[in-house]
Amino acid sequence: MTSSRRYSDQDVEHYDRPRRRGSRPRTKERPTYDDAVDGVVVTVDRGRFTVVVGGQQIWAVKARPLGRKGVVVGDRVRVVGDVSGAEGSLARIVEVEPRTTVLRRTADDDDPVERVVVANASQLVVVTALADPEPRHGLIDRALVAAYDAGMAPLLCLTKADLADPETLLATYRALGVPWVVTRRDDDGLGGLAELRERLAGRASVLLGHSGVGKSTLVNALVPDAGREVGQVNAVTGRGRHTSTSALMLPLPGADDTPDGWIIDTPGIRSFGLAHVQPEHLIEAFPDLDEMTEDCPRGCTHAADEPECGLDEAVARGEADPDRVASFRRLLDARSVPPYLV
Ligand code: ZN
Repeated sequence: MTSSRRYSDQDVEHYDRPRRRGSRPRTKERPTYDDAVDGVVVTVDRGRFTVVVGGQQIWAVKARPLGRKGVVVGDRVRVVGDVSGAEGSLARIVEVEPRTTVLRRTADDDDPVERVVVANASQLVVVTALADPEPRHGLIDRALVAAYDAGMAPLLCLTKADLADPETLLATYRALGVPWVVTRRDDDGLGGLAELRERLAGRASVLLGHSGVGKSTLVNALVPDAGREVGQVNAVTGRGRHTSTSALMLPLPGADDTPDGWIIDTPGIRSFGLAHVQPEHLIEAFPDLDEMTEDCPRGCTHAADEPECGLDEAVARGEADPDRVASFRRLLDARSVPPYLV
């Protein structure tokens, strides 16, 4: 439970002044780095960061003034030092911009520490095969909870539609209003894949999916250079493959070499601990339902067994869609199921 403290905005106030030669007196002002350049963190590998600056990859470490402040994939940062990106070069990250969203995972069997996984992504794409392997509702529900809690818009990407009809699965999620795209293995580039590209354009999206669902195929179709980019990172860090918890941010090809959005692949994330998610925060993702809980008893979790929950009263009055309320409660329940049982 330390991460919420570790990543709090308070830490920004604790920055040290930059080091200067001589005996210049320390001032109370926050340091300004006139020569710093803006960048985006695209990978993290044991204390080494790959940062994209002006369309080019460079390598950096955290500068001392950042102290224990975490820097994660998706962070917008300010960098000083050798920003040439030349072999062996190493710049320093001196500032981290405030985050717009934070995707977290609670400590679980895979990872004993609660962590921020990705910062500043606005969409979470849950990639699920319609068959082979069979879709697992528990996993989808957990990913949706993580998205809503992070303030990210969810998108269902249902693959292998040539094997099974998406309708059965979609029926489960329709009441929640989750948007979806459907792809086929024989996609000619004009079907679901084109629609997915449209939905990814101009924003940063995290792709989440388990092995065998076709996530890697999608990543390769969306970013034809993905393999090369990863290889490049590894060559420079000299540390082999990414650590299992790492995420990898890739630019979607746009006109004039300008990225038309970003996708963040999460190869190491197999489960999503959700113990940190609070009911009052989750329901804020559903403003229509949130409104109906104004008169709930103090401490009401809005679960089905709450005696006087406003959601039940709204359903009884015919003001709430019972399917939507039931779906929301299914998500609430998904929080408390240990990831290894899903
Ligand atoms: Zn309630």
